[in-house]
Amino acid sequence: MNDASDAYDVAVIGGGPAGLAAAIALAETGANTALIARRAPYADNRTTALLGGSVDFLQALDVWPRCQDKAAALQTMRLVDDTGRLIRAPEVRFSCTEIGLETFGYNIDNRALISALEQRAAELSNLARFDDEAKTISPDDADVALQTAHGKSLSARLVIGADGRQSLCREAAGIAVKRRELNQAALTFNIGHSRSHRNISTEFHTPQGPCVFVPLPGERCSVVWVTSPKEAERLIALTDDELSEAAERQSHSILGRVTVEPGRYVFPLGIEQPGQFAQHRIALVGEAAHVLPPIGAQGLNMGLRDAADIAELVREAMTSGEDPGSPRVLQRYDRVRRADVRSRTFAIDLANRSLLSDFLPMQSLRAAGLHLIGAFGPLRRIAMREGLAPWWRPTQRVG
Ligand SMILES: Cc1cc2nc3c(=O)[nH]c(=O)nc-3n(C[C@H](O)[C@H](O)[C@H](O)COP(=O)(O)OP(=O)(O)OC[C@H]3O[C@@H](n4cnc5c(N)ncnc54)[C@H](O)[C@@H]3O)c2cc1C
Repeated sequence: MNDASDAYDVAVIGGGPAGLAAAIALAETGANTALIARRAPYADNRTTALLGGSVDFLQALDVWPRCQDKAAALQTMRLVDDTGRLIRAPEVRFSCTEIGLETFGYNIDNRALISALEQRAAELSNLARFDDEAKTISPDDADVALQTAHGKSLSARLVIGADGRQSLCREAAGIAVKRRELNQAALTFNIGHSRSHRNISTEFHTPQGPCVFVPLPGERCSVVWVTSPKEAERLIALTDDELSEAAERQSHSILGRVTVEPGRYVFPLGIEQPGQFAQHRIALVGEAAHVLPPIGAQGLNMGLRDAADIAELVREAMTSGEDPGSPRVLQRYDRVRRADVRSRTFAIDLANRSLLSDFLPMQSLRAAGLHLIGAFGPLRRIAMREGLAPWWRPTQRVG
């Protein structure tokens, strides 16, 4: 049995960007919230292109003002066919002004984002932080009993599983997950360069996957280079000078002279989809709920929509005196997240497969599709809006 003081409305497990954002949003609804997450330095150098409503959400949480000076605006997106194949797509340029926006969003170092989220989370008096790990998670009819690695016991009417790919929460909820390994890996590193990026993100499509140069503040970009696992291993082992040269060659010198900064990481890529997004008083957010290859910058943007949606449903439930972990709330969460996550996973998987395909008709279809998007304004504008958020969610102004 837990004392009343250890009984929470909601407990969030996991302190990555999705978990921290969910914890803040839930505490801001007035729910008595626990966050079980180790305080540890962010482990890699990933950056996130925050698109559309993500910045508005972070603004509403009072997180954005704490990190916006570390972010670079993304005003143009260029797709360049660098496959060298017989059938090639024309270059496509998406400009934010074409859909009446000042920017598509902002690219930010995950470390800066996490630090702003941590700062805000520490200010909320109804958000109790446990610098710990959840060890056992036992859902029951009335609540979920939690035990931490340090032996603390608590309970919550709703648990948010923000514990990433190997989610213990997902397992405790009895939710099965479908995994598909892709024979691809993403190498990430940051670069300085001699020519201005002019707030243009450029994606070179190679036969092994896209290599994208995303603006950071100043004369810097983050690079996400998707390729075969073997090639990623070769690239990560290069000296700084060799990798700088390889990146300059891959960017066709559009950024001038390239100098790599310290820190490189390789991420094996896969697609993961759970059977449900919520069950037995447990709702999944972030990578516990969806894993995608880093194409089109969708992963954390979806994770932030998960956080916003569950917070909104909890707010509605608590306002009407309803249990925030009731089957009705969980079913509604499952319904709203399913449409968003499934449609994006399908689109990204298709875009990736069409790029990797050696099948000539598929290459022609891809080239024709990009040609149509490049040539017809209305189609291009639909693609841009859909890239920012699903059509049924309003695209808010950022900037
Ligand atoms: C190369 C690359 C580039 C990307 N670029 C973009 C981009 O531009 N835009 C975008 O939107 N997305 C992007 N993504 C996706 C994005 O990085 C992820 O969606 C996001 O980081 C996932 O955050 P998360 O909080 O769900 O998971 P994580 O960051 O994995 O956090 C999970 C946390 O839970 C903790 N945890 C696990 N188990 C427990 C437990 N039992 N108790 C307590 N804590 C626990 C872990 O320690 C971890 O801190 C990219 C991904 C990659 C690989």
